[in-house]
Amino acid sequence: MPNDPIIIRTVADLRAHVADWRRDGQTIALVPTMGALHDGHLSLMRLAKGQADRVIASIFVNPAQFGPGEDYERYPRTEAEDVARLATVDVDAAFVPTAREMYPEGFATRVHIERLGDVLCGAHRPGHFDGMALVVVKLLTSALPDVAIFGEKDYQQLQIIRRFTADLNIPVRIMGGPIEREADGLALSSRNRYLSPEQRQIAVALSVALKAARDAVKAGGDPSEASAKAREDIVKAGFDSVDYVEVRDPSSLELVTEAGTPARVFGAARLGPTRLIDNWPVD
Ligand code: AMP
Repeated sequence: MPNDPIIIRTVADLRAHVADWRRDGQTIALVPTMGALHDGHLSLMRLAKGQADRVIASIFVNPAQFGPGEDYERYPRTEAEDVARLATVDVDAAFVPTAREMYPEGFATRVHIERLGDVLCGAHRPGHFDGMALVVVKLLTSALPDVAIFGEKDYQQLQIIRRFTADLNIPVRIMGGPIEREADGLALSSRNRYLSPEQRQIAVALSVALKAARDAVKAGGDPSEASAKAREDIVKAGFDSVDYVEVRDPSSLELVTEAGTPARVFGAARLGPTRLIDNWPVD
């Protein structure tokens, strides 16, 4: 039986554990999450295990990355179940700070990422990536792991993190992990818990439509036509609205206008109050 992870609640305690492990010559991987852990998160923990001697998972529903009217209050908080799931993949420590610990009285700092942060989800969730970047900068500089692992499910987030760690000289290797999906193709997400059984049936249409657009572009089809077709199919399947479907360059996130260049198909759509995102590589 693997041991339960150590629960760490303060930055000072996190630093003390990391310092102990470093003294013993051990390497450290960090996997940031907002909890409500599913198999997608656990796949990142397993990847982390192969990259370092010690794995720290953080669980923090970060208020700075939610906009007004978004789901900060109702976001699922399931600490006991999360810790039990982390034990099954042999995670050493769970860093579970309070909002007050991360944003103490008087906190006044912001991080802003230009260009990469302005498109796709950045255009539809103002301030979201700045809030995400703020907490990830704090997590990385608090733990100073050798490697930090993020899922390609949030591909734009991963690219933004690569950008600011380079720009700010944060000495951490950033690694991406592949998207884990349900058998029918729906990308695993903590927000899938919000879906009614009927909405769950509809939800798969996002993945199906983006994958069809990916196949069309791969076969030489026009990226903007493939995106328009995917948007139509998502609405026809029963989504209430589409925030975007776009084909973009996988590193610069610039719009791709011709088939045959490196690309990834990105989409976000709303089903009742739930906003789902997904993406597929054109390889
Ligand atoms: P979250 O808890 O939603 O903030 O996600 C924490 C980390 O898990 C992020 O790096 C996500 O990209 C990653 N993640 C979420 N869903 C999946 C998935 N289905 N497959 C792989 N990684 C995922």
